Amino acid sequence: MELTVKQTVSWITRWADYINQHVNELNELDTAIGDGDHGTNLNRGTQAVKQALFEEKPKTIQMTYRTTAMSLVSTIGGASGALLGTAFLTMARLTKEGETKLEVLLSEATKSMKKRGHSDVGMKTLIDLWEPASKALSQHRLTYYKVEEYVENTKKMKAAKGRSSYLRERSIGHIDPVAKSSSYLFVALLEELDQKY
Ligand code: ADP
Ligand code: MG
Repeated sequence: MELTVKQTVSWITRWADYINQHVNELNELDTAIGDGDHGTNLNRGTQAVKQALFEEKPKTIQMTYRTTAMSLVSTIGGASGALLGTAFLTMARLTKEGETKLEVLLSEATKSMKKRGHSDVGMKTLIDLWEPASKALSQHRLTYYKVEEYVENTKKMKAAKGRSSYLRERSIGHIDPVAKSSSYLFVALLEELDQKY
């Protein structure tokens, strides 16, 4: 599927609004297995994105993703800022090269985050959301229910990357905070598409 520039901006803005409404929830999830700041950090980042998109009024999809990436990287410290920045920069680069299919952009973004973080599915990271969600999207089978299921699946996993991996077995039983915050990106997308894909 393809989005227009307007839909792309609207999608990312919707995500920013979701994060803004769930700061406490995300901080609480990060308190259990991290340093408790994920909601606050990501909210700072996505609000900066929203502001930048509003001010710049990007004319192309490439610029929209690029602005998103730059704002995220410059305002969020930590692993999630670098990884999400990588995802949107990849989407900007591929769009510039002529790729228009959103499902391709999202799966390539997932690949570059895996490369950057030396991570894969099953390590209790945002990859456990991005990979199955982008795969389901390309098969036109992504639903709200599935997005929720991918988030819940991270509960039973033992963290193998980042700060939460220091907890080893004690990380089991908790949702990965960045899988949760990324789930809002896909929920926002489903809303934008306003149909089951
Ligand atoms: P920090 O621990 O630096 O505060 P954040 O709170 O920004 O990091 O993000 C932590 C999240 O980043 C983890 O919950 C996990 O989803 C993700 N993460 C951390 N390291 C990696 C990695 N190497 N590969 C993929 N995801 C990772
Ligand atoms: Mg953190």
